[in-house]
Amino acid sequence: MSDNGGRDVPGKGLLDGLAVTFKTMTKRSTTQQYPDVEPDLPPRSRGVIALSEENCTVCMLCARECPDWCIYIDSHKEEVVVPGAARARQRNVLDRFDIDFSLCMYCGICIEVCPFDALHWTPEFEYAETDVLSLLHDKDRLGEWMRTVPPPPAHDVLGEPSKEEATAARKAAGPGAATAAKTARPSSVRAAPPATAARAVPKPPGDAASPEQAP
Ligand code: SF4
Ligand code: SF4
Repeated sequence: MSDNGGRDVPGKGLLDGLAVTFKTMTKRSTTQQYPDVEPDLPPRSRGVIALSEENCTVCMLCARECPDWCIYIDSHKEEVVVPGAARARQRNVLDRFDIDFSLCMYCGICIEVCPFDALHWTPEFEYAETDVLSLLHDKDRLGEWMRTVPPPPAHDVLGEPSKEEATAARKAAGPGAATAAKTARPSSVRAAPPATAARAVPKPPGDAASPEQAP
């Protein structure tokens, strides 16, 4: 008996192929006629990276962690005079922030490591170019993508407020409420259960060797 799944039967492969063809012919096509019909992408698709320039502190973390070395950052320092401060402070000013999308592999590490939410994914994907050099997006172009960033998901209604929300709520409530709010226990923190050591443990009757009954 043949153990090759019936491949020796003449014409079986042809019939199998025709069966698949006829089965597919009776089904509705799922091909999307792009660009006439826009693809229905999930809102968190990795299309292009947007830069919120005002959030960037030029910490260089994203450029250092990028495995493809396709983020280019230049900056200079600027003195900021703070009224009442003993001396002027310094801050970094961003001169150049480019991402080369011809090298980017869309891993998202730069977005993950940015501590200031300056980089965001947007589902926008229509930025193909005929010249590969045009895939280098500067900070102005990266900033333009910000308008396509979807809004963040809503907070969990059962979750605790963030540190920033709690601080804002305290400030809004006034100085007296601020002290009370600091000492108040969050509603989601349950009271600790009674210590297990204080629980009465039933002893077996006639247990003379028990240390509690010893003189
Ligand atoms: S997505 Fe990855 S490869 Fe692209 S710029 Fe960010 S870290 Fe680099
Ligand atoms: S990690 Fe964020 S804040 Fe730091 S340089 Fe990159 S984009 Fe700017």
